[in-house]
Amino acid sequence: MKKKLMIIIVVLLTIAFNVFSQSNEKIELTNYSGKLKQIAGNWFLNTGEDIVELSLAPDEFLKDNNIELTSKMEVSLNGIMQEDELVVHSFIIDGNEFKIRDESGKALWKIKPYYVIPDKCIGCRLCVSPCPQGAITMVKGIAVIDADKCDGDGICVLGDGKRYKGCPVDAIKQVK
Ligand code: SF4
Repeated sequence: MKKKLMIIIVVLLTIAFNVFSQSNEKIELTNYSGKLKQIAGNWFLNTGEDIVELSLAPDEFLKDNNIELTSKMEVSLNGIMQEDELVVHSFIIDGNEFKIRDESGKALWKIKPYYVIPDKCIGCRLCVSPCPQGAITMVKGIAVIDADKCDGDGICVLGDGKRYKGCPVDAIKQVK
């Protein structure tokens, strides 16, 4: 009986330790510098060796924090490469760091998630793969956006600057 109790305590302590270490997990960031470039409304960084697409914050949030981006501007930023996109966590401007995401990568701006109007959706699936957060899935032939995953970037409505031009039947709206 005592042995069983000990095993249960050890298992519970292990689970608690894992949950605690995951919640305190910090993302390893890399510093990148180069010149900004805007193409079809999306921002890219030309590092001299490569041109990478940036995942930033909404224009409104950047403006409120006095981060004004212009093409050909030299920037230094901290971020992490995710697939073929550089997710920006902070900018270094005049030696000062301006954060747009916290240590765990969570956006520091208030997110207004997008949602699909089920009666309008024609189930074409076009919006599913362009979402960088993987927030859109098909449920019974209708697109559904997971509000917890949505980071409000609006790609589902505005298009991804490549082949996806946004929902063809205007079925996606943003929470006001
Ligand atoms: S693009 Fe529009 S119509 Fe097509 S699946 Fe997504 S929400 Fe539905």
